Amino acid sequence: MILTVVLIVAAPGLAFGLWFCWACVIPSSTFFRPVLVRGPREGKRISLTFDDGPAAQFTEQVLDILREHHVPATFFVCGKNVEEHPDLLRRIVAEGHEVGNHTYSHLHIFFKSRRRMAEEIDRTQEIIEKVTGFRPKIFRPPYGARWFGLIPILLGRGMHLILWSVAGYDWKKDMRGITEAVMRRLKPGAVILLHDGRETRSAAEIDRSRTVLALPGIIAGARRRGYTFAPLKDFLPST
Ligand SMILES: [Zn+2]
Repeated sequence: MILTVVLIVAAPGLAFGLWFCWACVIPSSTFFRPVLVRGPREGKRISLTFDDGPAAQFTEQVLDILREHHVPATFFVCGKNVEEHPDLLRRIVAEGHEVGNHTYSHLHIFFKSRRRMAEEIDRTQEIIEKVTGFRPKIFRPPYGARWFGLIPILLGRGMHLILWSVAGYDWKKDMRGITEAVMRRLKPGAVILLHDGRETRSAAEIDRSRTVLALPGIIAGARRRGYTFAPLKDFLPST
């Protein structure tokens, strides 16, 4: 009897919690839209994305591999890191890759005001524009988090919200684990999440060597299965 009462009382809270997790946390959720989680199913095109850079050493290594294999990619950069490594952002652009906004300080946007979110996005837009001469049209929130007020900010700036459909889990897996995580979930239109930097202030704490080691195997493995690498802009609705 008591258990039944507890369940009846707790059920709405539990349901709300599950809905909240789906809407704000799960990368594939589409409650906050428009959003791009995955590209078109037709054709065997996939797209590589790298978050949290630019970072000394690792961004360069990732760029070297992409150049060697003629693979386009997208870099979702933090404004703070661009201030420290403007040359790396210039190289990203010079080598034909796309650039997206990933906030200034790698802000977790849960429970943040619209003003705070806009500040982080705008500050990063300005920094990127100063270095490259253009303002990105794509935004990926740190941790894939979404929050109320984000969509109007992006729409007001003509920006697209980008999540991902395949995570490499390169923040916790080794080289082999990263490659397996990507290859296992690869499907046409996949948007693959990897990292060339890290949301830390200390350069000594950044180690993306496992991502760098895994990348050639991911490229080769995907091509063996008939996939081609497309720029993320090919996955967006034409404007
Ligand atoms: Zn991030």
